[in-house]
Amino acid sequence: MEFKEVEAKSILNPCGIPGIDYVINPYIGCRFACKYCYASFMGRFVGKTIYDWGEYVYAKVNAPELLNKEIKKLKNKGRGKEIFLSSVTDPYQQSEAKYKLTRQCLEILAEYGFEGVVSILTKSNMVTRDIDVFKKLKNVVVGLTVTSTDDKISHYFEKNAPAVSVRLKALKTLNENKIKTYAFIGPLLPHFVAQTDELEKLFKALAETGTKDIFIEHLNLAKYIRNRLSVEMKGEDKEVLEKFYSSQSKSYRQELEEKIKKLIKKYKMHLLLDMVIFHKEFQERHPHGQKNPKPF
Ligand code: SF4
Repeated sequence: MEFKEVEAKSILNPCGIPGIDYVINPYIGCRFACKYCYASFMGRFVGKTIYDWGEYVYAKVNAPELLNKEIKKLKNKGRGKEIFLSSVTDPYQQSEAKYKLTRQCLEILAEYGFEGVVSILTKSNMVTRDIDVFKKLKNVVVGLTVTSTDDKISHYFEKNAPAVSVRLKALKTLNENKIKTYAFIGPLLPHFVAQTDELEKLFKALAETGTKDIFIEHLNLAKYIRNRLSVEMKGEDKEVLEKFYSSQSKSYRQELEEKIKKLIKKYKMHLLLDMVIFHKEFQERHPHGQKNPKPF
């Protein structure tokens, strides 16, 4: 594991993801090391390969100082804009316990009186540490990624991230503290098509946390992700691998989406964007939406 402190050139970076204006990535790399992570391409900016993903983390130690300057350049205190933490790292990975870069950035946004939306997405229960800061922000929404209800599955795919059971508890705590939340089921793991009970368990568990809004995304098997996955899943049962690769077909997605529609209705949830995101089609619909974010 390689860790270092670096100085970034900028921190509030414009972003093309639909609905998001700026991203803050306080770290380069992500210790959570999810097998399916799309951000593994970030290695090319720091001389690493996609296979090194999860094995390096660089803390942008000057992030708060930069944000303090950059935020003041926004017109109308950022009214109508959305800042997302984070697009290519997890803002609450292990290093955040020591560096508190995410927390400091949020404090700066709160103290400045940022008028836009601050949107956070993480796989860590460390996010509950910052509830006091969320309460000072004018408009914040916090999302937890939850891909199953089985800790063994989450440990397999998201090897250094907190277990899903812990994430579900974090969602509940946020809701109890009246913080606006959402859940991100992404990627939709391929076994759900054959194991509807497991999918239902997931919706039930989410509903029990009090979260109503969900984003759902199909597995993204872009070539570089597939290449890394095939190394990460080496030695897996052939059947499991086949299921993975067939998850990109239209028929597979339709079957799953039918099941999802019913569950959303049953648990009175709200599907954000009104669709299950499929990266390939989403990209075609929003051709400017998926530019690679700059790491520095
Ligand atoms: S937590 Fe997010 S950024 Fe980190 S490895 Fe997993 S998918 Fe990638």
